[in-house]
Amino acid sequence: MAITTRVVNADMRNWVFVRVETDQPGLYGWGEATLEWKTQAVVGAVNDLAPLLVGRDPRDIEQAVRILKKHSFWRLGVIGMSAVSGIELALWDIFGKWLDQPVWRLLGGKVRDRVKVYTHLGLGDMRAVYETLETEPLVRRASEVVATGYRALKAVFIPYSHYHAPLVEVDKVGRLMEALRKTVGPEVEIMVDFHGRPASASTALAYIDALAPYRPMFVEEPLPPGETGALAQLVAKSRVPIATGERLIDRPEFDDLFRARAVDIVQPDICHCGGLLEARKIAAMAEAVSVGVA
Ligand SMILES: [Mg+2]
Repeated sequence: MAITTRVVNADMRNWVFVRVETDQPGLYGWGEATLEWKTQAVVGAVNDLAPLLVGRDPRDIEQAVRILKKHSFWRLGVIGMSAVSGIELALWDIFGKWLDQPVWRLLGGKVRDRVKVYTHLGLGDMRAVYETLETEPLVRRASEVVATGYRALKAVFIPYSHYHAPLVEVDKVGRLMEALRKTVGPEVEIMVDFHGRPASASTALAYIDALAPYRPMFVEEPLPPGETGALAQLVAKSRVPIATGERLIDRPEFDDLFRARAVDIVQPDICHCGGLLEARKIAAMAEAVSVGVA
C-alpha cells in the first residue's frame, strides 16, 4: 500500500486529498483530509502515518484505523484524525471498487429515496461566508440560492463577540434575520452558523433570542467546540435547536456532548472524526439519546 497526498488550491484555502494505491494494478482510492489553514500539518501527518499500513490488506478498514490510532502512540488531535479520516475514506473507495459496488451499499444500503439538501450563501463562493454581514449582500445572495431551487440555506452573520453582546450588534442580527426570512419566505429553511464566535453562553443566547422570532431551523456552533458545559446551559435555554460537532474528533468528545445533553443536532464530519466507520458509531450514539444527525 502506498499513501500519498495531493493539495489543491481552492481559493482562500486548500483541499487535501489522500491517494492510497494497492499492489493490484489500477486499484486505488481517494479520500479527503482537508483541514483549513493547516495544509502542511495534515500532509505531514499522512506521511508520518503511512508506514504503519505498508504490507497490510486495504480491505481491513477497521483494523487499519485501530493501527493508525493506537500504534502511533500519541493521541491524535484534529490534524492526526483528519489524516486518519482521509486514509479511511480512501480505503472505502478501494473496497467499493474492488467489489464493483457503491460504498453506500456496503454500509447497509439506502435508507431514503430522497434527501433534502442545503447550500451556503454564495453557492461555493467562499467570500459569501465573510461578506454577508450587511442586509443587501445577504438578501441578494439568498435570493440567488432560492432561485436555483434550494429550499434550505445556511448563512454566517454573527459578529465575533467576547463576554458581552452589544445591543447594537444584537439588534443588527435581528434585522438581518428578519430581512432574510422576508426574502426567502416560510418554505425555505434557514440555518445560522455562528462559527463559535460568541465567547460565552449568555452572549450566544442574546443573538439566538434575536434570531428566534424568524424561526431558524437551527443555530450551529453557537460556542467554540469543546465547551460542553456552556453548550448544555445554552441547549436548556435556547428556543432554537442547537447543532454542533463538525470540529469534534473521535468518540469520547461526542460522548461528552451526549452525556451532558449539550446538543440537539450533531454534525460529525467524516473528514475529521475518523472516517465513515467512526461517523456510523457516533450516529448510533446520537440515536440512542434522541439527538439528530446532520
Ligand atoms: Mg459550520
